[in-house]
Amino acid sequence: MREADFYERLENGVVHCLLCPQDCRIRPGKTGFCRIRANQDGTLMALKYGRCASYAMDPIEKKPLYHFHPGTYIFSLGAFGCNLRCRHCQNWELSQGDGEDVEMPPVRAVDIARSWHRPGRRCIGLAYTYSEPLVWYEQVIETARLAREHDFKNVLVTNGYVRSEPLEELLPLIDAMNVDVKAFSDSFYREVCSGRLEPVLRTVERAHGTGCHVEVTCLLIPGLNDSPEEVEALAGWLAGVSKDIPLHFSRYFPSWKMTRPPTPLETLKKARDIAAERLHHVYLGNVWEMPRSETLCPSCGAVLVRREGFAAEAVELEGEKCRKCERSTSIRND
Ligand code: SF4
Repeated sequence: MREADFYERLENGVVHCLLCPQDCRIRPGKTGFCRIRANQDGTLMALKYGRCASYAMDPIEKKPLYHFHPGTYIFSLGAFGCNLRCRHCQNWELSQGDGEDVEMPPVRAVDIARSWHRPGRRCIGLAYTYSEPLVWYEQVIETARLAREHDFKNVLVTNGYVRSEPLEELLPLIDAMNVDVKAFSDSFYREVCSGRLEPVLRTVERAHGTGCHVEVTCLLIPGLNDSPEEVEALAGWLAGVSKDIPLHFSRYFPSWKMTRPPTPLETLKKARDIAAERLHHVYLGNVWEMPRSETLCPSCGAVLVRREGFAAEAVELEGEKCRKCERSTSIRND
């Protein structure tokens, strides 16, 4: 562990964490809402710095990032802890649990990414993922700095729930993000996730505005966030940021504290059709019945990328342009 960034000392040994909008004021001996930042004798400590609960070499499509170096791999790692408490969390063993983890100082993470780079399996960098990387902030920023020295990309798979100052410090090191927008309703965030919507939208807008490649995922839950009106509002807001930002609708399955049945396929297809009226690229995820997907050129309809499961193949993509009509695409492929 190490001393945390972004906090202030208050009276009586209390510390005020300034990393995320949960705004925790933590008494000595206690942890914050995310459970991995703790007040030890008046100093805020990042408990999971240098520790890692899960790591693997994943296809970039699995993050999901469909428009960021398709067909490549990324060394993915994460720790325990999260600053939201979504009742349906699909990864609650990590986000809400604690248990065995391994030593993973930043230098080791970058070394593993380098050693796993093989012909035919291009590793483009590191993805901070699995639980919530923003509460693992010190590990992420130090590893990202080191990764850049080795010409690696940095990817964040995140709930986007962070305050402005830490976000601004981190963004110059992050090449791509997938941000989970869990619903387009503040009441959903308050009642289901113990958070708020607005900071998440601000993270998407700010990240895109600084040139970071952004994709958005929304897990549709029957009866909670899947109404046509809400889907249209989400797509309309995202189109206002950029029509080129890919939107992934992901299928929910019962998990942790939520027992509703899985999202019907028809709901997902309907959401895709509604959002596709506003956005150029809308995808479905967690849907094994429909394993194929394609990215089409928004101008001429040529197939730019073809996917089967997590395997992707560039078809009419030349660098970042459509080979047929030469339109610039939103696919990063340098
Ligand atoms: S990062 Fe953790 S400790 Fe800090 S405000 Fe957010 S939930 Fe609280």
